[in-house]
Amino acid sequence: MIITMKKGVPQQETEAVIKRITSLGLTVTEIEGTDFDVFGVVGNTTMLDDRQIAASPYVDHVQRVSAPYKLVNRVFHPEDTVVDVGGVKIGAGQPIAIMAGPCAIESRELTQQIAEKVKEAGATLFRGGAYKPRTSPYSFQGLESKGIRYMVEAREKYGMPIVSELMSADKLDEFVENVDLIQIGARNMQNFQLLKELGRIKTPILLKRGLSATIEEWLMSAEYIMAGGNENVILCERGIRTFEPYTRNTLDLSVVPIVKQRSHLPIVIDPSHATGNRKLVESMALAAIAAGADGLMIETHVDPPHASSDGAQSLYPEQLATLIEKGRAIAHVVGRDL
Ligand code: PEP
Ligand code: MN
Repeated sequence: MIITMKKGVPQQETEAVIKRITSLGLTVTEIEGTDFDVFGVVGNTTMLDDRQIAASPYVDHVQRVSAPYKLVNRVFHPEDTVVDVGGVKIGAGQPIAIMAGPCAIESRELTQQIAEKVKEAGATLFRGGAYKPRTSPYSFQGLESKGIRYMVEAREKYGMPIVSELMSADKLDEFVENVDLIQIGARNMQNFQLLKELGRIKTPILLKRGLSATIEEWLMSAEYIMAGGNENVILCERGIRTFEPYTRNTLDLSVVPIVKQRSHLPIVIDPSHATGNRKLVESMALAAIAAGADGLMIETHVDPPHASSDGAQSLYPEQLATLIEKGRAIAHVVGRDL
């Protein structure tokens, strides 16, 4: 951290700043300049509140050199992390994971039909929401435990690990027992109490980016899970809220190379929630593969017009098959398997 001090600061004030920093076990190097004096602070500065320091009338500005996240940071963990989700490995040079399935689990029959079709199309994981975070309390809220049961049955029959969203810690045991990859939705990305609970388990977590979260906030949420002891974290970009109403959200595809620079964690792209429109899903999915994503999450349904949730953005199984086929060619170009 670099602290730029104003000139003419009373000696005792300068000493007070230095004392506060060194009391935290950090070292301070002072450089005297012509217009400003500069303090270089070395050590684990994550405990330092830069805003608090900047609020001093003697400080001109404060600049962080290192990121506030440590466990998520590539600097301290240069190799890519590979997360094993029920036998499907995600990250590094592993084949690009395809998580496909309906937005919401609706019935046993539909669950089986969709699982069969997405498997046939080439999906490697089966997704489905049993507890749904709906904007309206009058919308379908999900089948809850029954939905999880139907997914478990689909896994038994089709052999794909299952991904489902956990909305609250009271259902954690049910998810640890039944779900291979616990999805934390955009709306819960900063539910810190829930993130702390996830740190206590070993089940892999798919952490979606919050509706308006910065990359740093998102990585700090991943840090919460890892700081608790769960290293199995996969990040998922699902579009952010911008001024543009044409698409449901704005897909921030640049996060793929950015996250790869900043972190060792795998990153998955969800073009379904990012665009909200099935006509846009394929191109964004292919772009995500080209950008270096480690996986895709694609909502797929056998009867999208009658889906109880997110039908407009759900692909037909044949469209998923085409997407995967084209994706294979692009994956090959970027040196990945699919
Ligand atoms: C979902 O995956 O169905 C979902 C609700 O996602 P998000 O949290 O990204 O909106
Ligand atoms: Mn959905």
